[in-house]
Amino acid sequence: MARRKLVYEGKAKILYEGPEPGTFVQYFKDDATAGNGAKKDVIEGKGVLNNRLSEFFMTGLGNIGIPTHFIRRLNMREQLIRQVEIIPLEVIVRNFAAGSMAKRLGMEEGATLPRPIVEFSLKDDKLGDPLVPEEYIIAFGWASQQDMDDIVSMALRVNDFMSGVMFGVGIKLIDFKIEIGRIWDNDFMRLVVADEISPDSCRLWDVETGQKLDKDVFRQDLGSLSDAYTEVARRLGVLPSNVTHRPKPTLIN
Ligand code: UDP
Repeated sequence: MARRKLVYEGKAKILYEGPEPGTFVQYFKDDATAGNGAKKDVIEGKGVLNNRLSEFFMTGLGNIGIPTHFIRRLNMREQLIRQVEIIPLEVIVRNFAAGSMAKRLGMEEGATLPRPIVEFSLKDDKLGDPLVPEEYIIAFGWASQQDMDDIVSMALRVNDFMSGVMFGVGIKLIDFKIEIGRIWDNDFMRLVVADEISPDSCRLWDVETGQKLDKDVFRQDLGSLSDAYTEVARRLGVLPSNVTHRPKPTLIN
């Protein structure tokens, strides 16, 4: 088989040229990074779980009428996606204070917000993905006012869907990040949810115990990241049958 052409390699995923024009193959790596790449590790099986979980969430969004880039899963680590023009923003929705918001405003982690809050960071690793007001986004032409209105209503729909699905399996959706892409049909432009939705890009806490089941486990050295992601996949019924997470053998003296 001819080698596929690599289009882009990021921290957790690789994009290859797809089999048909207008498609890409998205490959999920096992690499985990935090603090803009300052902390790195390889978490065996993470890519397989995120491929499945992102498939699950994107398919669910499609089923309730929210367009996404997802076409179909190809194998354990790859999915076929629509080629989109990524808007250079991280769209963050928060239901409870955590992470950078809790730090910036001196809020207690887990405090309930008065309503879901949508905020935007500029996707630029060199600048550390700075928070940007809508005013900047429109003034600098990264998106139009109409795009921003559509993105906010899309993000809130994604939030309602994700919060409901997660609450149904005993998990509180604290916050999450999505990326939005443009698809062009001649002169007609559509916005779709792109990139991935997985525990790498959400904060997920067990409703009963508050246990963290997301990338904060890695960021804050709270235990096994693959155990946490496996638990999310198990509760959602999306554990791939041939990838059971086996504990490593321990040496008995
Ligand atoms: N997030 C992400 N990628 C980023 C930054 C944030 O997926 O580059 C997610 C993060 O996992 C969390 C939400 O966006 O679910 C809000 O993150 P926050 O702004 O609190 O930043 P952090 O504390 O992760 O630096």
